[in-house]
Formats: sequence, C-alpha cells, structure tokens
Amino acid sequence: MRRHSSLALVAGVVLLAGCGGGTAGQPAVATSVAAAGPSSSPADPPSGSGSGDAGPKDGGGGVMVDASVVERSALRPMQVETDDFWEEILGIAQVPVTVSAPLEFLVGAETFDCGGVELSATDQYGPTYCAPEDTIVVSETFMTSMGESAALRTDGTFADQSAEVGLYFLLAHQWGHNILEEMIADRKADVTLVPSNQIEATADCFAGLAIAGVPRVFADKDPAAVLSLVPIYGERFSGIAPSPVTRQKAIALGLAKSYDDRAALAAGVGECLTEQAPALANALGVR
Ligand SMILES: [Zn+2]
Repeated sequence: MRRHSSLALVAGVVLLAGCGGGTAGQPAVATSVAAAGPSSSPADPPSGSGSGDAGPKDGGGGVMVDASVVERSALRPMQVETDDFWEEILGIAQVPVTVSAPLEFLVGAETFDCGGVELSATDQYGPTYCAPEDTIVVSETFMTSMGESAALRTDGTFADQSAEVGLYFLLAHQWGHNILEEMIADRKADVTLVPSNQIEATADCFAGLAIAGVPRVFADKDPAAVLSLVPIYGERFSGIAPSPVTRQKAIALGLAKSYDDRAALAAGVGECLTEQAPALANALGVR
C-alpha cells in the first residue's frame, strides 16, 4: 500500500508509536514513509547528515533507530540549546533563577525516585520534569518508541519535520515547568488556587519562545505540528490541560517572536504569564 499524503504519514507514525509496547519494526510502515517522502515533500529537507543521498532508506528490514541514537543525536543537543537559550533570555529578563535541569536517561531496569513517585525506564510517557529533584527524566521506552516511529533516520537526523518540532516541544514544555517552579520558589508564590490549565498554558507558551529562540532551525513551526506528539506520549504529571485550541494559541504567542529579537523573547516571559495565565501572573506578582 502506498500512501502519499502527509496526513496518512502522520497516521502511520501514530499507529506504530501508539502500539509501541510489543511490536518491533513493521516494514509496511517504514515502506510507506519512504514512499511518501520524495513524492509529497515540497522541498528537500536540509540534510545535516553530510552523506547526501536523498531518497532510498530501504536497507532491508525497515528503519529502526536505537534508543541511544535518539538520546545522543536528538535529545542531548536539544538539551544544550534549551539550557543556553533560557540562561540568556532569563538574564535579559532579569529573572533571577537558574533553570539548568539535568536530563536523566533511564535504561534497562533503572528507576528514579521522584518525591515518592517511581519513574522507570519502561514508562511510556515522554520527557518528564520531576520538580522535587529538579531533573528532567527520559525513559528508554520513550526513546525506543521514537526510534520505531520512523521519524528519525538511522543516523539520528529527522525524516519527518513535524516530528522534530514535536519532539522538541515535549522537551521544551518540561523546561517551561522547570522555569515556572523556579519562579514560584524564588518569589515564594502561593499558587494553590491557580487553575492547573494556566500552569500548562504557561509551559506551552514558554516552549513556544524556546522554539522561536533556539539556534535549531525547525522547518515546521505550525502550532499543530508542535503538538503532534502530545497525543501519543502524553505527560506524566499533567494537570488539567487546556483545550488544543487554547494550547495552540499559547504556543503561537511564543512562536511569534523573532529569533533575532532577543529582547522581545525576554519580554515574552512576562507576556506568557499575563496573557495566558492571569491568576498565575498575579500570584507571581508579574504585571
Ligand atoms: Zn505540562
């Protein structure tokens, strides 16, 4: 079966990743991805791989990317860029918090004690910000699932542009939670009455700022693409999430900033709060 619309491609990715538990490598899906690539993509994706060769990734046995490749090629570089971005932007915004959160990768039978909740290498969720330990935890099962999704080539570069920004969002949203927690602690803010959907909208908006402001060049920045992996991996400690439409609006606010206008990105920190989360802004004393 050959499918040429990118919608079908996404559906294929969803299907495979959704059943990520037992099924390893399904050639049919990999084939349809390879078929969809050349025929439907309007422009050649910028290949960072150096070894030209646009089309064929047959290789026999389908495209499967090892969890360690996902870690090394995708998540680690994203971590570094995000860290640098927030250090710079919060400095300009004169928000006196440090947001450098270590990424902890759990593999095999490893677990992580997050304030009494056990996170494990077999968790299906995407990256999780553990506030009590100020650490972003990533499970091997998640990385394996990403690798099986055919979103990545074997060298760790992205075959699917919406998957790249989608994966980055999963990470950047957790960083958003990290920043919020630090701001709340720094200002000793009482947020017990703040609706959780305002917390989530702020983390979404902060992620939008990061997508706009990190050096990484995302070929697809559509807010819907940004949210594309959320339904698959969900979020471990999510409160009540805003509606998808509200989330897209929150992301769009951050995304509207220009990469070159660092002052505007810094101003966005306050705007995310006042425009997306008035009760939270109040609690934090942000006007
Ligand atoms: Zn969240």
